[in-house]
Amino acid sequence: MKYVSTRGKAPVLDFDDVLLAGLARDGGLYLPEGWPVFSAAEIRAMRGLAYDEIATRVMAPFVAGCLSEAELADLVSEAYAGFAHPAVAPLRQLDHDRWVLELFHGPTLAFKDYALQLVGRLFDHVLRKKGRRVTIVGATSGDTGSAAIEACRDRQAVDIVILHPHGRVSPVQRRQMTTVLSDNVRNLAVDGTFDDCQDLVKAMFNDHAFRDEMGLSAVNSINWARIMAQIAYYFAAAVALGAPDVPLAFSVPTGNFGNVFAGYAARRMGLPIERLVIGSNRNDILTRFLVSGVMTAEGVVPTLSPSMDIQVSSNFERLLWELLDRDGEAVDALNAEFRRTGAMTVPHATWASMRALFEGHRFDDENTLAMMRTLHQTTGEIVDPHSAVGIGAGLAAKLPTGVPLVALATAHPAKFPEAVEQATGTRPELPPHMADLFKRSERLDVIANDAEAVKAYVRSFAKGRRA
Ligand SMILES: *Cc1c(COP(=O)(O)O)cnc(C)c1O
Repeated sequence: MKYVSTRGKAPVLDFDDVLLAGLARDGGLYLPEGWPVFSAAEIRAMRGLAYDEIATRVMAPFVAGCLSEAELADLVSEAYAGFAHPAVAPLRQLDHDRWVLELFHGPTLAFKDYALQLVGRLFDHVLRKKGRRVTIVGATSGDTGSAAIEACRDRQAVDIVILHPHGRVSPVQRRQMTTVLSDNVRNLAVDGTFDDCQDLVKAMFNDHAFRDEMGLSAVNSINWARIMAQIAYYFAAAVALGAPDVPLAFSVPTGNFGNVFAGYAARRMGLPIERLVIGSNRNDILTRFLVSGVMTAEGVVPTLSPSMDIQVSSNFERLLWELLDRDGEAVDALNAEFRRTGAMTVPHATWASMRALFEGHRFDDENTLAMMRTLHQTTGEIVDPHSAVGIGAGLAAKLPTGVPLVALATAHPAKFPEAVEQATGTRPELPPHMADLFKRSERLDVIANDAEAVKAYVRSFAKGRRA
């Protein structure tokens, strides 16, 4: 499989290089040259298979030419072996035709594990084949850092340094990162804010000599391999509920548009998905866009669902490219308009075709808490604030009769105990495999908000690992 950039000016790459590149050189995002399509018979044949087997079948066409199906199958089964539920991504029934897909049974209790556990292993596999190493650096305000660390721990060809703002992440979030004592993992607590951490990471990438010397890399949310891994659970859920013979709708709590784009990809690959429902918190750039056809950036406001507190949904560019008939120049022009004016207006026909498939609903914190409370009272389910936004959006959607809804639950309630307690009166417990989190020892290094100090730290760590 070959990959092309949404801006049309970057080299065409195969899977290995797309994995390692992340962002395309023309500033665009990579997508497969064509969508593999599964026939109804092939989808029916997935019924009854284990999650690993479905995931391998769904992903095999995307890695073809770089990994054999057997190599992929091994990495996939390793990736999900440590998940706490035997179904990996279990469905729970809310009422006669509405379901919750639980995507929080991975090591850090959020859906990002479903992609990153595989992506860490893919990195290691590809780098070892090429005889290369990378140093992954990243900044986190909490959740992404722990998922990346869990994904990279103990990998042979990968070292990872994650920066977080000292004293400004929750104790659970900090400990999920700092209690990983693997030799190839370092946590830096920066005397500064999350923005300072991001600036430090940018400074490292912008120092090209340093970047090349260290083999710097990132596992951020625009990496195609993350989307690819997420397509698998749409297939697993749909097949369990009767696809291809039953049409379905999915609702997704959305930030960077990666998760819901994986749903769009699943539809292109043959799943009968009637509707994709987007749930936003107060950072509602997408739901406003679906109403107006104009994408306008506003400042970010903090909410109870922090992993969705984003200003611009970077993966939206992938959908735009598809709906503009893969016209890279048109995508480039719209991006330029957005950068220049803070707004972009998509052609009417493109907006209309989005509205035929996508629908958006917005939940502020008060409505999110109300949703959590109602769900608890009517179904007994305890959900985290992100999942509540997604479920709430799904319940608010106007779906045709006979189309069951699957709402994606993206974080375990115990990751957000304060909000859950406020809404339901019940304080959720960490699951058994994490119950001793507060007894484990931590390792972190506090560092000044100073680019040269951070570079010196990363250099000495990476050198030591290569010696
Ligand atoms: C990252 C995240 C989201 C948003 O997902 P996107 O792919 O960025 O749209 C939603 N919920 C949780 C818990 C997350 O960690």
